Amino acid sequence: MSDTVFGKIINGDIPCDLLHDDEHCIAINDISPKAPVHVLVIPKKGIPRLVDSTLDDQALLGHLMLVAGKVAREQGVGDAFRLVVNNGEGAGQTVFHLHVHILGGLNFPEGQLAG
Ligand code: 5GP
Repeated sequence: MSDTVFGKIINGDIPCDLLHDDEHCIAINDISPKAPVHVLVIPKKGIPRLVDSTLDDQALLGHLMLVAGKVAREQGVGDAFRLVVNNGEGAGQTVFHLHVHILGGLNFPEGQLAG
């Protein structure tokens, strides 16, 4: 487990708004949402950054995608959402325990990567 805020959430040491919990990951509402729906999908394994994952994590990474789709549907944004992984400080990563942001409820201009 990582010694980060997400490690502490997974351990139950810090409370969170839990939307999904299984053997491999949790999904929680972001404490400081940047979109009407802003959920974090967090593996229980404390991989610091996406680039630190290995072939051993292949199934886990796929699982995070499947859970992201399920949670997005449950949150009512299954038809329009984005997934973001910030990798490294230079890309804005602040918590060094891999996580996938689900952003929904935004107006995504057609064909534009950044809204
Ligand atoms: P990053 O910038 O590392 O990609 O994203 C970290 C995210 O974690 C931020 O969007 C931030 O708001 C969120 N966050 C930081 N601390 C907490 C916390 O204690 N609880 C929850 N639910 N989210 C947090």
